[in-house]
Amino acid sequence: MSELSGKDIKYLNEVGPKRAIILNNEINIHSFEDMLYYFPYKYIDKSKIYEIKDLKANLPYVQIKGIFVSMEKIGEGKGERLVASFADKSGVIELIWFRGIKFIVKNIKKRTEYIIFGKPSIFNGRLNIIHPEIEDSEKKEDSIVSGMQAVYHTTEKMKKAYINSKLISRLQEHIFKGFKGRFPETLPKWFLDKYRLLNLHDSLFNLHFPQSTDLLQKSEYRLKFEELFYIQLSTLKRKAKTKLAFRGMIFKTVGESFNTFYNNKLPFDLTGAQKRVLKEIRKDCGSGKQMNRLLQGDVGSGKTLVALMSMLLAVDNEYQACIMAPTEILANQHFETISEFLDGMNIKVSLLTGSSKKSERNIIDEELRSGKLNILIGTHALIEDNVVFKNLGLVVIDEQHRFGVVQRSKLWKKNINPPHVLVMTATPIPRTLAMTLYGDLDVSIIDELPPGRKPINTIHVYQKDKQSVYKFMQKELDKGRQIYIVYPLISESEKLDIKDLESGYQELFDYFSPLGYNLSMLHGKMKPKEKDYAMQEFADHKSHILVATTVIEVGVNVPNASVMLIENSERFGLAQLHQLRGRVGRGAEQSFCILSTGYKLSNESKQRVETMVGTNDGFEIAEADLKLRGFGDIDGTLQSGISYNLKIAHLGKDSQILQYVRGIADEILEEDPLLELDKNYLLNEQLKRASKSQVSWRFIS
Ligand code: ADP
Ligand code: MG
Repeated sequence: MSELSGKDIKYLNEVGPKRAIILNNEINIHSFEDMLYYFPYKYIDKSKIYEIKDLKANLPYVQIKGIFVSMEKIGEGKGERLVASFADKSGVIELIWFRGIKFIVKNIKKRTEYIIFGKPSIFNGRLNIIHPEIEDSEKKEDSIVSGMQAVYHTTEKMKKAYINSKLISRLQEHIFKGFKGRFPETLPKWFLDKYRLLNLHDSLFNLHFPQSTDLLQKSEYRLKFEELFYIQLSTLKRKAKTKLAFRGMIFKTVGESFNTFYNNKLPFDLTGAQKRVLKEIRKDCGSGKQMNRLLQGDVGSGKTLVALMSMLLAVDNEYQACIMAPTEILANQHFETISEFLDGMNIKVSLLTGSSKKSERNIIDEELRSGKLNILIGTHALIEDNVVFKNLGLVVIDEQHRFGVVQRSKLWKKNINPPHVLVMTATPIPRTLAMTLYGDLDVSIIDELPPGRKPINTIHVYQKDKQSVYKFMQKELDKGRQIYIVYPLISESEKLDIKDLESGYQELFDYFSPLGYNLSMLHGKMKPKEKDYAMQEFADHKSHILVATTVIEVGVNVPNASVMLIENSERFGLAQLHQLRGRVGRGAEQSFCILSTGYKLSNESKQRVETMVGTNDGFEIAEADLKLRGFGDIDGTLQSGISYNLKIAHLGKDSQILQYVRGIADEILEEDPLLELDKNYLLNEQLKRASKSQVSWRFIS
């Protein structure tokens, strides 16, 4: 549709340069085509005309037909409003305006029949319609809208420029009327036939101007199908291409380090899942292809160990390995754990973070280049250009959702041959979603926790139960346990939140300090050194209660902590609650997660709390989350740097289509990996187009 994509929106009838700028900025519409792909979010049935006597406050938008009987201005200043009585044969209803009063008074004629469109509601104890749309029933424009009227999202700024839903509908109409012929297809004929899809032109037309519910459904289906299909095709094609293009380093031997560690150092048996995943990794790394693997495992499932053993595999084959963590605290912790595990073995491990001293850095640089350094652990500092390896064979990225695509690909480029890549995440992602988000990665799953873990006991309490919660905490502290207390931090009112945290801290301090317990505080506004200090105090059991914001969410490991109290937990998302809960239950003791909320809960908050109380399974929680929130928000939490810019499909609701089209994409690529066959010409062209277009899907590296 290059003809439409090349046309600047400002040239569309009724747009012009001023409105064009608003459309650019507010909803990212630049061309005719962008507009055409700006889809309605709902439809209103305009075929039916209600009688006034049948109106009720719970009805959606309705149409009535009648005349204005009277009109009266009431109140003054801000309270000023225009109240009109509008009648049909069956009765009378009030119409109310707070704005644009002059315009209405000037333009409305008595004894003229109008069609009124709006939502009935109760105001001042009476049924009425506030700010209805008015249409002269005689002059009912010759529009292509029949029965169902599309409704489009608009923003405040758009409304100020009179770009409302109705105007957008007219703009769509202008595009259709101005285009000669039919919009060219974006899917091959054989494809449309085989999967019984409606053609593009009719689909777009019916989406904006539904001719029947049946056609609307078919249109939606076709466009969702296409959207998801091209994402899958692109992802899978890239995956196939990567496999063809890069020769992976071959880790031939399972050598001395690995075996010594496995036989002499490992303090426990690996779980079945850890063994299986290690096997998958060994197979990948020995295959001659480059590994690109996502390791998913719930919090506490022992991913670090799998990473360590994979790194030993690299070391045994004379390659270097590195692991990148999202925070300094985590990097430190990895460094300590790994150094301890490898104690006495002849393997050189170093830590590189933003706060490494110049002198340490110099040594690390030197040893990295000479190859003396085997394993480097660190934060973002690892991806800086001046970090140069002699022979990097394996990159491990912990908690992938904290890193963007760009960062991952930067690590890739640290070698002429790309190293094997293992990406680890504990953020539970539903399988269908993982398939899309990480479509170009192979996925391993650790679905088993180390033995002896007692499931965390999750309890819901109300804020007013504070005293009994404190008593309970005291009992746990007396047993020698430690406690996390988390406060939500919402960025809009960060100052207020810190105040919440501080006053909460004070209250806890007043209660627990006289009992001989120490408290520390941890929040994002503290300097890294202060944070580390607070964390270290807690890890060393010098402080007993850690009062924190979600900065502790990722990875922190203090097995002696047995209680996690989350204040205002209705303000957290499910994924986050699960991550937080994962900070306890890491030792042999029974652990508790206490979700404290206010008394009044929205339905959604209630469901979240119930889900948390009901299950410890990250995948189950992820599915529930997806159902509750939809994909957009999950994407937000993942902070993955992936944006699909979905226009019509919904990864949660349309997961069946997603699975279906993935199979189709697989089949096509199986037969024609580079899409060179004639029949796939259009598919390839569309992919090329999408990758060039500004608003295209961006993929993980
Ligand atoms: P995560 O997957 O959340 O990163 P970790 O790797 O931090 O989990 O492991 C959590 C804890 O479980 C660590 O203390 C680790 O030493 C321990 N652990 C790992 N694997 C096993 C195992 N097979 N048996 C017993 N404990 C294990
Ligand atoms: Mg971890």
